[in-house]
Amino acid sequence: MTDCTDNSPLIHDILKKYWGYDAFRPAQEEIILSVLQGNDTLGLLPTGGGKSLTFQIPAMALDGITVVVTPLISLMKDQVDNLLARGIRAVCLHSGLSRSEHKLGVDRCRLGKAKLLYLSPEKLQSERFLETLHDMKISLIVVDEAHCISQWGYDFRPSYLKIASLRARFPKVPVLALTASATPEVVDDIMRRLEFRSRNVFSRSFSRPNISYIVRNDYDKERQLVNILSRTFGSAIVYVRSRKRTREIADMLASKGISADYYHAGLQAQEKAEKQEKWKHEETRVIVATNAFGMGIDKPDVRVVVHLDCPLSLEEYYQEAGRAGRDGKPAFAVLVVSPHDKARLTKAVDDSFPPKDYIRRVYELAGNFLSLPVGEGFDRIFEFNLGKFAQTYSLQTRPAHSALHILTQAGHIEFMDEVSTQSRVMIVSTKEDLYHIQLSPVHENVFNLLMRSYTGLFADFTPINEAIIAQRAEITEQQVCETLVMLSRMHVLQYIPRKTTPYILYTASRQLPAHITIPVSVYEDQRRRMQVRVDAMKEFAFSSVECRVNVMLRYFGETPSEVCCKCDECRRRKMRRLSAAENQQLEESLKYMIAQKPRSLKYLFHESAFRQEEIVTKLRELMRKGIVVMDNEDIFSLSRR
Ligand code: ADP
Ligand code: MG
Repeated sequence: MTDCTDNSPLIHDILKKYWGYDAFRPAQEEIILSVLQGNDTLGLLPTGGGKSLTFQIPAMALDGITVVVTPLISLMKDQVDNLLARGIRAVCLHSGLSRSEHKLGVDRCRLGKAKLLYLSPEKLQSERFLETLHDMKISLIVVDEAHCISQWGYDFRPSYLKIASLRARFPKVPVLALTASATPEVVDDIMRRLEFRSRNVFSRSFSRPNISYIVRNDYDKERQLVNILSRTFGSAIVYVRSRKRTREIADMLASKGISADYYHAGLQAQEKAEKQEKWKHEETRVIVATNAFGMGIDKPDVRVVVHLDCPLSLEEYYQEAGRAGRDGKPAFAVLVVSPHDKARLTKAVDDSFPPKDYIRRVYELAGNFLSLPVGEGFDRIFEFNLGKFAQTYSLQTRPAHSALHILTQAGHIEFMDEVSTQSRVMIVSTKEDLYHIQLSPVHENVFNLLMRSYTGLFADFTPINEAIIAQRAEITEQQVCETLVMLSRMHVLQYIPRKTTPYILYTASRQLPAHITIPVSVYEDQRRRMQVRVDAMKEFAFSSVECRVNVMLRYFGETPSEVCCKCDECRRRKMRRLSAAENQQLEESLKYMIAQKPRSLKYLFHESAFRQEEIVTKLRELMRKGIVVMDNEDIFSLSRR
């Protein structure tokens, strides 16, 4: 085992050489050194805190390959591209790849031609795949977005539980778990599920002192939005919950002379990239988006983030609002709620956990919809159009979706709805062969446009967009697809059309609805946890009694020692930061009063010259330091330590 001080110059060199940075950000170095010492490590850093470097640098420092499990395919690809651009060899493997793409990736890793291997968690389901990992020299296992492994978290993914099997196969390899959002119980759960040899957490405070958090309660949200945007400057993100609304709000803003565009996951990849670029380069000031926007987008000077619909948890709110002011300069995070949101939050819990009978009915209807006889279907995959399903049986989409999700967690089926991967093409004939192939004018036109529009088609599968080629060739998208299929049959190229329909995999043959069990752990427990999250969000949004930042920090398990002086609550109460002298005066006076005789809060409020919030905050600090204790009757006395 190496001494940690030995590694410090090495990792600074790597930081400078590959990233050009001079210094680490808070907690980065500690995490990296802990990993290099071979310790299981949990890094808890806010979004944008620089979690990626904490495994990319060890990957470069260690022999062999670092395996990174991460849930979102699009982010995985971004990271790999980013690394390749820095001269670091990395590979990603996920279920959207073809067999040959997959083999290519595995071979690179086996031959030691990659320092990092990114995996989507469902790859771990395959025993055969796990076997191939034994041919690689694995030096570190990284679990990004590690809160996904906890059923207590807001984004549990059952496939994450499989990571433990990775652990079992490579017991000597240390694990690094990373997340931006974990309450104290989730932190413990992550370490337990990943079988940490000992508790080892590095974290950085979640406080973002340059952000002013503001909550506005108004029936007329659009008026509020226009108000906010006309009183602030600089790039802004406006989050809404539906795709349709992104466009409506952007149009509304444009009609008021505010430069705005919209963005959601349903757009074509090319369109998304264009909108994103324009916003990044400040051609568009405001981007109105669903929560699909932002992950992996790294714009430091966002000045305003507005939420027009209330998220379902503080975890989500904190992450999204935290995209403001990454450059450390003043920024605003504004949550606009109306009294309707309260009811919507309550309904969200019911929609996510429809009654068990309803869930069994959805199971039954899904089987009927797929014409699958009872007792059959084991290991079979069916395309499953949820919209059509819901329409056929007059079900509401949201609870039906939740029912399928719960059935998945209970292990009866696997419903997958995140499958809109891009189409891909690789040219399989050689350049010489291409001269001799006779193509019809339409085929030739499409082929030439393909060659002109994309690079690297000969080397690897390349994501393409049929709509763009159709536009350039002035034919329909359907014709482009047909042409690509034809060219595929002629062995000119290989074409993998994108999948856009979700599917259901029967992990057990279809059963009678009465035999469908729904365990407490996937229903009652989960429902209770969601309720806790939603209640915390409601408290933040609707009961203004305290500094907004402190409400959030406490939820994330921190004990704040002062108020932010910047949020709407602090402003309303004209909070200001106490000077060092005032701070000391407050502390001394409280200690003096309490030392005479145990005192009630009421007494202290009455006798002290300071504000109630200031007194409460100071008492909390003194209690945390073990100087003051509070008994069951809320009477404060000096600790007898
Ligand atoms: P996270 O995963 O924690 O949300 P990322 O790893 O994506 O954050 O990092 C966010 C940004 O911060 C990236 O652009 C990254 O290059 C940058 N960054 C990370 N560490 C440093 C550092 N030590 N110095 C300067 N920039 C850094
Ligand atoms: Mg990250």
